[in-house]
Amino acid sequence: MEKWTRRKFFLSTLAGSVVASSRGLFAGTSKAGSTEAAAIQTKSGARPLIISSANGYAHLDDGMNVLKNGGDTLDAALAVVTKVEDDPNDDSVGYGGLPNEDGVVELDASVMHGPSRRCGAVASITKIKNPSLVAKAVMEKTNHVMIVGEGARKFAEDEGFTPMNLLTERSRIAWLAWKASTSPNWRPGIDSPEWKEKLAMLLDTPEKQAWREHIEQVVKYPITGTINCLAVSANGDVSGTTTTSGLSWKIAGRVGDSPIIGAGLCVDGEIGGAGSTGRGEENIKISGGHTIVEAMRRGASPSDACMEAMKRVARNYKAFPDRLKLFHIQFYAVNRNGEYGGVSLWEKHIDGRPVQYAVHDGTQARLLPTTYLNAGIGGDY
Ligand code: ASP
Repeated sequence: MEKWTRRKFFLSTLAGSVVASSRGLFAGTSKAGSTEAAAIQTKSGARPLIISSANGYAHLDDGMNVLKNGGDTLDAALAVVTKVEDDPNDDSVGYGGLPNEDGVVELDASVMHGPSRRCGAVASITKIKNPSLVAKAVMEKTNHVMIVGEGARKFAEDEGFTPMNLLTERSRIAWLAWKASTSPNWRPGIDSPEWKEKLAMLLDTPEKQAWREHIEQVVKYPITGTINCLAVSANGDVSGTTTTSGLSWKIAGRVGDSPIIGAGLCVDGEIGGAGSTGRGEENIKISGGHTIVEAMRRGASPSDACMEAMKRVARNYKAFPDRLKLFHIQFYAVNRNGEYGGVSLWEKHIDGRPVQYAVHDGTQARLLPTTYLNAGIGGDY
């Protein structure tokens, strides 16, 4: 009984101190973080900065406005990625994301809040278009770090997230076209006048016909995208998030790197943060996010730290280009001084576009070319 009483006293004291410190942590920027920033920061010139994969470019202003208004770094990163999750035309993230092989959109996401040293994640969640916000709810409202599958969807609904159909008409047709590419059972029969031309049958209006090139591309090259976003405040607080629909046509229940803390996302409030897009399996094998943060801890610049991780990815294939050219992977990193870098395995995407990433330094958003390990085109899976 006495033991219980002491424990109870301890818990209530702890609860009091958590409440007190969380007021500091979430009243705009972190007071605790600021003090620590002053102690740990070795270079001057910290500034508000946001970095993301290229698909966040159009929304970096939204995140920067949060920082400029004294908001929290995680809220700034979430202001960017939730716009992409809401966008039906980005078929690699949230609503409109390409589905798994059963036609079900399964989403993965993680968040890390540097000032409070907390994180949350969800994986294989269905029907909820903003998994990044569910990951934040896991962080704030539970004693867990990751919730997956049906449990994640139920948790989200219990928290007030509205379930919806995440499969857009374009993604549904792309999925049917992919199924047709995998088996004759999903093509018109040989007795059909439409034999072989399943896609033409599916694209039965001028609006849908405009999707042909895109659908042919995603059927042929099923690797998709993701958004990673990292935000640094002027006082050196750092947070980040990564959110994705994962690899298109994946096996149901497949989880990539995006929700894995230390792989698709890693933030250490004393150092900085890192994240990744591209083939998650390769990143998980090297714990990319953690590898990058640890390299920065040892003094590497964000760009050099990303390159160190990329070389580990390449080393897993003895750097053989015939294997490496089958996939794409990108790393992004910031340190708490607002220095940043973006590194890709390949110079160009499969369609010839250069690989880029997006940065907002408080003045304007820009798309920058990544530093690449290999010249040429990758992702020819
Ligand atoms: N990293 C994501 C995953 O593996 C996919 C991607 O970025 O293309 O799930």
